[in-house]
Amino acid sequence: MNATPTATPLEPYVLADDPVLDLLNTQANVDAVPVDFWQHDADVTRWLVRLGWFREGEIPEFEAGALLAAARHLREVIRGLLEQRKAGQLGDPAALNAFLRKAVSYPQLLWTAPGELNLHRQRKQQTPEQFLAPLAEAAADLLVNADFELIRTCEHPECVLWFYDRTKAHKRRWCSMALCGNRHKVAEFRKRKLKP
Ligand SMILES: [Zn+2]
Repeated sequence: MNATPTATPLEPYVLADDPVLDLLNTQANVDAVPVDFWQHDADVTRWLVRLGWFREGEIPEFEAGALLAAARHLREVIRGLLEQRKAGQLGDPAALNAFLRKAVSYPQLLWTAPGELNLHRQRKQQTPEQFLAPLAEAAADLLVNADFELIRTCEHPECVLWFYDRTKAHKRRWCSMALCGNRHKVAEFRKRKLKP
């Protein structure tokens, strides 16, 4: 029987257990071929809504291609810093700091219901960089506060997906059992069968 070819997923994987690491996972190897799930502005906005960074209708209009370019740039900046942090190196935070410097936000009081006064953070969103500031801030927070022992990439040699191991035993090895865990099991099984 022929193996069923894996269909290319239409949407990026969401499996990192962390929204910043899932940002990195918008680039992945699908059947050993590198795929960037972000090809258009709409791919970025769909992902932002799906991951809960923004709600539908909260996305401002930018010049065509501007959001895609800024999001890809931010993704590369964050990827570089995370990889270096994971490798125990002192990454240069200048590019991420440049992003953070553009962020403008201030708290505003808001009655959300009678008797319920809340403080909401308002953000300027005049540029894609300002709009993406919450991602830059979350990445900065992760770099400072995360346990990098628990931030790992999938053990499968062809897989580049990241995750934050929040399991109790901290023994997570795969991006997901369905994607790589089973592939590994099948390969191990074949190896055993081939041994004389
Ligand atoms: Zn994997």
